Amino acid sequence: MILGHAQEEVVEAITQAAARGTSYGAPTEAESRLAEQIIEAVPSIEKVRLVNSGTEATMSALRVARGATGRNKVIKFSGNYHGHVDSLLVAAGSAAATLGAPDSPGVTPGAAADTIVLSYNDVSGLQNAFAQQGDEIAAVILEPVVGNMGCVVPTMEFLQTMRDLTSQHGSILIFDEVMTGFRVAFGGAQERFGITPDMTTLGKIVGGGMPLGAYGGRKDIMDQVLPAGKVFQAGTLSGNPVAVAAGSTTLDILKKSPPYEALEKMGERLAAGLSSAASDAGIPHTVARVGSMMTLFFNPDPVTCWDQADRCDRDAFGRYFWGLIGEGVYMPCSQFEALFFSRLHDEAIIDETIDAARKTLAAF
Ligand code: PMP
Repeated sequence: MILGHAQEEVVEAITQAAARGTSYGAPTEAESRLAEQIIEAVPSIEKVRLVNSGTEATMSALRVARGATGRNKVIKFSGNYHGHVDSLLVAAGSAAATLGAPDSPGVTPGAAADTIVLSYNDVSGLQNAFAQQGDEIAAVILEPVVGNMGCVVPTMEFLQTMRDLTSQHGSILIFDEVMTGFRVAFGGAQERFGITPDMTTLGKIVGGGMPLGAYGGRKDIMDQVLPAGKVFQAGTLSGNPVAVAAGSTTLDILKKSPPYEALEKMGERLAAGLSSAASDAGIPHTVARVGSMMTLFFNPDPVTCWDQADRCDRDAFGRYFWGLIGEGVYMPCSQFEALFFSRLHDEAIIDETIDAARKTLAAF
């Protein structure tokens, strides 16, 4: 909720849309307008499809990538979460990691057989996978800044290597920007890092708090989707007029008055404050941050991949979380979820948060 909850203009747009009708089972002008806003904002997206969630976006993007390349295998990274898509619910982050079910029961060996799991930021792992089976790899999907094993920042070498290898081998590079899209920059992590993937998935901010996701990319790839091509994807409620109204208005506001510089400044302030609170309490920690997305890891070493995230002191995180609740601050409820804040979190609120963390950590 980058604009905060119940933002006036967003609520007004939702109300007006709902008063006209909540579902038509057909495309609308408003849906096309949101598509145009997305295309204008996100460098990799020349054509886009709206769906109902981040999960649908990644599921559909994979199908299109496989259909477009005629290949089956997909590379994902441990600790990255792409929704509850069967083939991606392997070594998953987020709640799956927190609750000890990174490979969910109910996912058949067949559904996961074509998923290759590599370690995040591991350049040689990528090189080996492509050297061994590059011509069978349909796609590489990743969170270009991870939010789902806590905030983990990619190295430029990692991103550039995967861009080069996927191009050389005719594989499709998919940035899952469900979290980072319109968050770490208006055009997402791809704008921030200057690396353009072939396809992108979106959710969360793009729906302004309503159930909406999107996937898109290069025109020639998206032209594989029915009716232009043969890859099937459809949805009764996709492009839902109420969700589109919320998303479209949110993007209008973000474009008209970009909050990104302010978010960066507040992010810097919060990260420095949390880190000094932990240092003063003598607690081994590391903070990772990109813009308004960050994590205080109860881990003395930098967290660059899942194996390192897994070494965090989960009990310490639990005490930190509940201590902050006692102080009236609601942090993400897992070490493996990044923290976000909105443009309404001003200096006073950020400082209150730091004070609450300081009190909590001092009492450890
Ligand atoms: N991809 C990423 C990077 C996500 O963070 C999430 C949700 N946390 C999803 C996909 C799935 O989105 P949804 O929950 O809307 O299905």
